[in-house]
Amino acid sequence: MAEERHPLHDLFEDQIKDLYSAENQIIKALPKMAKNATSPQLRAAFEKHLEETRTQVTRLEQIADELQFTPKGKKCKGCEGLIEEGKEVMDEIEEDTLDAGMIGAAQRIEHYEIAAYGTARAHAQLLGYTKAARLLQQTLDEEGRADKKLSQLAESIVNVEALQEA
Ligand code: FE
Ligand code: ZN
Ligand code: FE
Repeated sequence: MAEERHPLHDLFEDQIKDLYSAENQIIKALPKMAKNATSPQLRAAFEKHLEETRTQVTRLEQIADELQFTPKGKKCKGCEGLIEEGKEVMDEIEEDTLDAGMIGAAQRIEHYEIAAYGTARAHAQLLGYTKAARLLQQTLDEEGRADKKLSQLAESIVNVEALQEA
């Protein structure tokens, strides 16, 4: 059964591989961010998102499995750069603004993921990959909630404390 593949399929596969690399890099980075968080709520948010990210990796594996390719073999350079900037924040920023700085770094990562998942989900729909589209939408929603949570923390706790301590 020689199945004719849509030209968009290869690009889609590439995007899943890129996301798989991104999520695995994030799994390595989040524990250090949680450890460095001053606010217990921020630490809890990072830890929760670490668990969610592990699930996100399994969703990408399910998609690759279903479409019969390996998600491995690509490095997401965009995410690598964003994580690198997060490390700069942790190394360079004073303690009273560290949480605010880490939230900024983490939100950059969330927005990058939201862009990538939005595109991949749209392509999955175009390709008729219904199950993949549904799984990508689940992760997209999760990333959106994580981003909103970080916005809330930035506005309600962290920045106010940083200002008061100054
Ligand atoms: Fe993610
Ligand atoms: Zn990438
Ligand atoms: Fe995320």
